[in-house]
Amino acid sequence: MHHYGADTRKSVRQVMSGKFSSCMNSTRLPVFSDTLRSALDERKDVICVLSSDLRIAYCNPAWDRFALDNQGEEAVGSRVLGTNLLDVAGESLQRFYRHVFDAVASSSKPFDFDYECSSADRFRMFRMEIMPLRPTGFLVVHSLRVEEPHSRKAESPDAQHYRNSSGIVTMCSHCRRTRRVGEPQRWDWVPAHLGDRSLSVSHGLCQVCRVYYYPSVPSSSPSLT
Ligand SMILES: [Zn+2]
Repeated sequence: MHHYGADTRKSVRQVMSGKFSSCMNSTRLPVFSDTLRSALDERKDVICVLSSDLRIAYCNPAWDRFALDNQGEEAVGSRVLGTNLLDVAGESLQRFYRHVFDAVASSSKPFDFDYECSSADRFRMFRMEIMPLRPTGFLVVHSLRVEEPHSRKAESPDAQHYRNSSGIVTMCSHCRRTRRVGEPQRWDWVPAHLGDRSLSVSHGLCQVCRVYYYPSVPSSSPSLT
């Protein structure tokens, strides 16, 4: 699953500790039938249902399997219910998601796009499909399109190259490369960072992913530097 699945540990924790208890009260939850729920439970694709204000209302079992394999227990469905997608998407993607979900809601037409969500040792491409639910909410399906070994040069997780003065590393939300502290235009593939749960991670978009995936997102946005 996407940026809000990848490396959302801190964000989810922040949401859980602060807004979780109150956010469910104001959420208008989508109504979907037992038949649809059973069908989603069976799917191997990673699926969630979002309320109209983009809070997670349902995650299928495949979501939990992916979460446990890639992020840990904090990301399983029962722990993220009520979380707003925008709170865990990372600043750099919030505007994009707002635009996409607004467009799906107003047009009542599905929207899909491909994105990278690699693990330390596997290159993976997923397709994200966003479908409007009636009368309210969204169905979001992440399906695996490509999975193969990486052909990238791997760098070692040398702290002086990647950690800023606060000990934080900046990782691309898509390709999950890490930005060099002294060379902010350079993003290296550091697979050791992906499996390091003790790491403090800030998210951004590298230049390639910004242009490739989000040509409509202005490059002048301060969060995209
Ligand atoms: Zn990237």
